[in-house]
Amino acid sequence: MRNEAMRTHCPYCALQCATVLSPEADRVRVEPADFPVNRGRLCHKGWTAGELLATPDRLRAPLLRTDRSAPLRAVSWEEALEHVTERVRRLWARHGHDAVAVFGSGALTNEKAYLLGKFARVALGTSRIDYNGRFCMSSAAAAGTAAFGVDRGLPFPVTDLGGADVVLLAGANPAETMPPLMQHLDAARLVVVDPRRTATAERAALHLQPAPGTDLALALGLFHTAVVEGFLDTAYVHERTSGFERAWQLASGWWPERVERTTGVPAESQREVVRLLAAADNAYVLTGRGVEQHSTGTDTAAAFVNLALALGLPGRAGSGYGCLTGQGNGQGGREHGQKADQLPGYRSITDPAAREHVARHWGVRADDLPGPGPSAVELLSGLGTEGGARALLVFGSNPVVSAPDSARVTERLRALDLLVVTDFVPSETAAEADVVLPVAQWAEEDGTMTNLDGRVLRRRAAVAPPEGVRTDLEVLRELAVRLGQPAAAFPSAPAEVFEELRRCSSGGAADYSGISYERLDDGENPHWPCPEGGSSTPRMFLAGFAHPDGRARFAAVEPRDVPEVPDADFPLYATTGRVLAHYQTGAQTRRVAELAAVLPEAHVETHPDTARRCGLTDGARAWVSSRRGGSLVRVRTTETIRPDTVFVPFHFSGQACANLFTSPALDPTSRMPEFKTCAVRLVPEEES
Ligand code: SF4
Repeated sequence: MRNEAMRTHCPYCALQCATVLSPEADRVRVEPADFPVNRGRLCHKGWTAGELLATPDRLRAPLLRTDRSAPLRAVSWEEALEHVTERVRRLWARHGHDAVAVFGSGALTNEKAYLLGKFARVALGTSRIDYNGRFCMSSAAAAGTAAFGVDRGLPFPVTDLGGADVVLLAGANPAETMPPLMQHLDAARLVVVDPRRTATAERAALHLQPAPGTDLALALGLFHTAVVEGFLDTAYVHERTSGFERAWQLASGWWPERVERTTGVPAESQREVVRLLAAADNAYVLTGRGVEQHSTGTDTAAAFVNLALALGLPGRAGSGYGCLTGQGNGQGGREHGQKADQLPGYRSITDPAAREHVARHWGVRADDLPGPGPSAVELLSGLGTEGGARALLVFGSNPVVSAPDSARVTERLRALDLLVVTDFVPSETAAEADVVLPVAQWAEEDGTMTNLDGRVLRRRAAVAPPEGVRTDLEVLRELAVRLGQPAAAFPSAPAEVFEELRRCSSGGAADYSGISYERLDDGENPHWPCPEGGSSTPRMFLAGFAHPDGRARFAAVEPRDVPEVPDADFPLYATTGRVLAHYQTGAQTRRVAELAAVLPEAHVETHPDTARRCGLTDGARAWVSSRRGGSLVRVRTTETIRPDTVFVPFHFSGQACANLFTSPALDPTSRMPEFKTCAVRLVPEEES
């Protein structure tokens, strides 16, 4: 272990709170550092992150099996990598390059996300690469790009929220998911849209509690009210936007009483929200996964953007629209080319000029770069099928727990000829693998992350990884070289990869070319775009939006039904989400004793009247079952949830996995799955 204190950032969420890690005799102490986004605060997860470095079931040697019915056994790196290489070559010969697919992660550093995209397109020659950010940010990203020409979660520093009079939070619960952010909202009157009275809603001046899956109608109704009550910022709409007429035409039929009938939100509350926003000198509309993780997610995020545009908020200092990104590198993870439809610099993979640019940097022909591949759910559901991928390489992700309709995903993984997983712990997905490659974790390696407001940050190694462990970058380099690539094209030193990334991003929407490790180590945290020789861009769109005409676009959207609503057989809405003590699939936080003690098992939140009707009492075990499958969890009654809705946290695995019942229906634009609404029944354990 090194013994000096090291400044770095939290391993978990997109706020990326700054920390100081101090290696001690038998542990690493984590303390908050002063930094604009967290100002000396951390949440419970951040304070206890040092425990991850001493997790008892840490992977320390590659694991391999050639027979799925046999247990994984420890092997040398040489044997493991040779096995992967030989199997990949065999699959290429039989089925072509698209037989091998890659699944990445919004937890990977910028360097890893970049090299993974290059590895897939150049070393594997496959179009089949996507990542778990598809489950997180894709709807808001699609809506933001369409509206503003480019998407950056918060196009302003998170600290600007401190100057707001009113903040509308639609489908976001930062009081639990990123508590240090709440200090920036202290001065604002909050309006929260959520079917549950969450910890954030408890602090709100107004809480709108729509039925799950009706957020789009609600957003259109708020837009409608803004227009008919005379709050449309006509000068702004005229000078800075286009598409208002068509958007208004579609929203004009959504008067408050009709919206009330659809959503359950009282008409007067809708009017009150719009009046509050319109009366504020400074106001923000922010969306989160609650309104985005739907098969209507892109339209819903776009409808909230329409509301913000009608009030003249985006691109105005002190006001705006933004989305609260979830994963640690949810922002950077989607900019550097691990997404099925994108190349580094946030470039479209179908844009000929973008392909030429990237191919030149990679030393390949643009014509040889694969085209766009299937999105995450489509990639996973095609595994092992006729024409689907026969091998999958998973980096930093745990789709057995995180993917919708997860029992089907496990089935598909079992149908593969080869499943390779890199991780630092034996995750549920690693348990299904043929080869498991043990890799370094957050505080054991260098790299950069990009947080929710587009700030680029330095992660620093505070301790050495255990013997036997390699970094993801070293794994990618080793595999690339074994598959015939020149070593020089796949550097494994993070600083070298960043050099390549920043040059390759030059001229793209997410331009990092002016950012360097030196600049970051000097204490700067530039916001992209930051072109070479140029400066950081903390606030975007002040002089114009990123479309060629400089105008933002209203979206022409109207309500669509979500695929499942309650019926006689499945009479309740189910929704899923995060809780304070855990993060994502829980693969990390369930291994931290203090966090596991706070919430050791999954539960279903249900209204006491609903529990009574279902023959359940607090503390009993119950099945939450949809047409796809059921999750067995502990009943927790609460009056903070609508009687027609139940909520299950998605951090647990096995029979308690919430994604056993979620729907794989996809948003037609973002390909986001329908995580947030499906129809279920709630039955006592013994009755199933
Ligand atoms: Fe870590 Fe997010 Fe908690 Fe900050 S809010 S300490 S980044 S998990």
